[in-house]
Amino acid sequence: MKATHKPVVRRCVSCACLQDRTRMLRLVRLTAGEIGLGQGFGRSAYVCRSKRCLQDARRRKRVQKSLRIPNHPAIDATLAAALDKVEPDNRDLDQDSPVA
Ligand SMILES: [Zn+2]
Repeated sequence: MKATHKPVVRRCVSCACLQDRTRMLRLVRLTAGEIGLGQGFGRSAYVCRSKRCLQDARRRKRVQKSLRIPNHPAIDATLAAALDKVEPDNRDLDQDSPVA
């Protein structure tokens, strides 16, 4: 018997790809109706830590839909803060970037 250690994967709400959950941004809807980041119990949504996925999640309100809270200002603020921290990824420039 081989003991294989599989990473726990989660689906990104933007691109729907499966990724190691430690590499993703997790937003949690806490029981008090607050939005948690990273930890806490409750319904959660995962987004890749890439500019494209974070932007897409923001633009299309994917986290709000996934967590079933259509209007929660903390979600947009959290995604905006995460976008600030994410490294610019040149691989993301192959699409929808206006090149002059
Ligand atoms: Zn993604």
